[in-house]
Amino acid sequence: MVLQDLGRRINAAVSDLTRAPNLDEKALDGMIREIVSALQDADVNSRLVSHLRKSIKATVNLKDLSPGINKKRLIQKTVFDELVKLVDPHAEPFRPKKGKPNVIMFVGLQGAGKTTTCTKLARHYQTRGFKACLVCADTFRAGAFDQLKQNATKARIPYFGSLTSTDPAAVAAEGVAKFRKERFEIIIVDTSGRHRQEKDLFDEMTQIQRAVRPDQTIMVLDATIGQQAEAQSKAFKETADYGAIIITKTDGHASGGGAISAVAATHTPIVFIGTGEHMLDLERFAPQPFVSKLLG
Ligand code: GDP
Repeated sequence: MVLQDLGRRINAAVSDLTRAPNLDEKALDGMIREIVSALQDADVNSRLVSHLRKSIKATVNLKDLSPGINKKRLIQKTVFDELVKLVDPHAEPFRPKKGKPNVIMFVGLQGAGKTTTCTKLARHYQTRGFKACLVCADTFRAGAFDQLKQNATKARIPYFGSLTSTDPAAVAAEGVAKFRKERFEIIIVDTSGRHRQEKDLFDEMTQIQRAVRPDQTIMVLDATIGQQAEAQSKAFKETADYGAIIITKTDGHASGGGAISAVAATHTPIVFIGTGEHMLDLERFAPQPFVSKLLG
């Protein structure tokens, strides 16, 4: 189910209830059931859904409402707040500082959208006055450096990589050292993803992290992977202890609920979402505006 459909279904459930002639317990339960089923269809983790169901019940608490309360408003606000809680880990994301090097390392599985998103993020900061650059530490996949080079050239972002080296940590260290010396402010390090979570990948990630000492590690998660997102984000968190998530491919037919569940599982904020294949298709993510938009 597409994320927009989730919003539509939740909206419809709330409107049905607020228009019901009898706004009683039975009608409220009906609305909650429909919201629960919409969230489940969107792959949101069942533990989170169950928590949300109980929270709505407890907050609305029709029996003990004082007569002056606007039930309709209360229900709308409660549903909104509970959805915000789903995507808000209450953790402040990293903010790069001007005038110093901010090293940002990307991690994630192959195909998640790391290379594309690296360039999008570099460009995002570049247009905000930061001196930004890219380092390709993916020596595993043939063509990885070429892809980054092409994207970077198109966006006019300086880049560093090697066509011959087989040591990603060494390439990463060299690139970061060079750009630090040249006083770059945003130094983004792209890493290899492989196809699966495997020991080699995690060893490599740890070595690169040691070599470049990133100020921020960002996990790139594909919105289309559904329920797997939770396990994947947890496994990467244990090894790479990333501080932020970027969800890609939110423009496609992704349910997005799996990725939302990853936030709760790892207590890590989503900072941006990818909304397409082009350089400008990157949006800042914040819980409240996201839910407002979801509900239209
Ligand atoms: P990597 O292996 O993690 O570096 O992934 P890539 O950056 O090569 O991306 C894999 C594919 O996903 C490419 O075809 C990208 O164009 C595509 N992609 C990345 N982000 C998005 C997005 O936000 N929306 C869409 N529709 N496609 C994306």
